[in-house]
Amino acid sequence: MWDKEKKKHIGDHEVKPESLMMSYGYAPEWSEGAAKPPIFQTSTFVFESAEAGKAFFEVAYGLREKKPAEMSGLIYSRLNNPGLEILEDRLTVWDCAEEAAVFESGMAAISTTVFTFLRPRDVLVFPEPVYGGTEYLFHEVLPQFGIEAVGFPAVEGIEGLERVLGEGDRRKRLRMIFVETPANPTNVLMDIEACARIAAESGDDERRALLVVDNTFLGPLFQHPLKLGADLVLYSLTKYVGGHSDLIAGGCLGPTELVEPVKVTRTIFGTMAGPWTSWLLLRSLETLKLRMTSEMKNARYVADFLADHPKVERVHYLGHLEEGDPQFEIYRKQCVGPGAMISFEVRGGEAEAFRLLNALKLIKLAVSLGGTESLAEHPGTMTHADVPPEDRMHIGITPSMVRISVGIEHPDDLIADLEQALEKV
Ligand SMILES: *Cc1c(COP(=O)(O)O)cnc(C)c1O
Repeated sequence: MWDKEKKKHIGDHEVKPESLMMSYGYAPEWSEGAAKPPIFQTSTFVFESAEAGKAFFEVAYGLREKKPAEMSGLIYSRLNNPGLEILEDRLTVWDCAEEAAVFESGMAAISTTVFTFLRPRDVLVFPEPVYGGTEYLFHEVLPQFGIEAVGFPAVEGIEGLERVLGEGDRRKRLRMIFVETPANPTNVLMDIEACARIAAESGDDERRALLVVDNTFLGPLFQHPLKLGADLVLYSLTKYVGGHSDLIAGGCLGPTELVEPVKVTRTIFGTMAGPWTSWLLLRSLETLKLRMTSEMKNARYVADFLADHPKVERVHYLGHLEEGDPQFEIYRKQCVGPGAMISFEVRGGEAEAFRLLNALKLIKLAVSLGGTESLAEHPGTMTHADVPPEDRMHIGITPSMVRISVGIEHPDDLIADLEQALEKV
């Protein structure tokens, strides 16, 4: 059998994650010596015998415990597929997770996870803003199932969380704290360790509250929530992990005890990633560190340029936080690097922001983020258009705000593009 821990070592030497991205989870002898795992484009798998098929189903349906060293058999691609299995093993490495589940979208990962753990009367709390799809799921869908979803402004931090938990018997009914940090598009940070402490003290004896962190913006290179006490980490793998703006996928990572039930729900909802998506993600993981490091370096040049520009009023960038700012203390504790997401406000309003966006030549005007190419968008009228205007101002999304996801282009070219576009403002 394949020994997970042994594969992470050369003798006593521990191999780094970036070195494992070309091999971990796959052995060429499984597939005719192919250096890369082939795509198993099949819906179903042929059993060696009726007895083997029976044994596979007993394990898959939980009719009996797995025997020592017994592997889950391949049955049907909604339950499992070799490419998906290899990808999930490899994806665990950066976050030091025990197990991973991969989905056909980030929203599939979020909704499948939420419906695995939440029941009528349960309380879910979350700092706002969160991703638009997540916001809709929480505010519009969950209440239809009797789940109380309560948001609070991320700028209020732990105090905001304590405030909403203080009402009625919410603390006892709390089943999930869902945190997206840094917040999009304002880059406000939420203290993961403090949230984990509150989760551990909430809920009831049988069903303790879980801390779930959407780590799409900094992970899995620059922030590791599981190490900070989170129970589960979620990703839109569409963004940095996929990294080429050519696929949609999501992930849920954590201890086997929590990820296994999520996989059972996934099998029934049918939200698993297909063979082609899985293969593309394996390809992407090989260059993840190269891409994210290059994007992070570029973002610093771009943010410094913007901060010095007379037509720019404010820049929201983690690399500009300063000693003495409580946000800096959280940053130092939980982030390994500032990532490559920048928001800034041009002098003026929506018209000035639009003039800048329309003048860009190299940076593309599009939503999404984390790809090789730089993208710019207007949160107020695009990604966050459905946030009511008064809430938008309250959480810091102003009409003059532009968000950039910095790519791997040469930083001089990005700055030249922004410079000529700012002249039009
Ligand atoms: C994009 C995104 C999602 C949704 O992911 P999809 O892959 O588009 O379904 C969730 N959370 C965050 C933070 C995102 O940026």
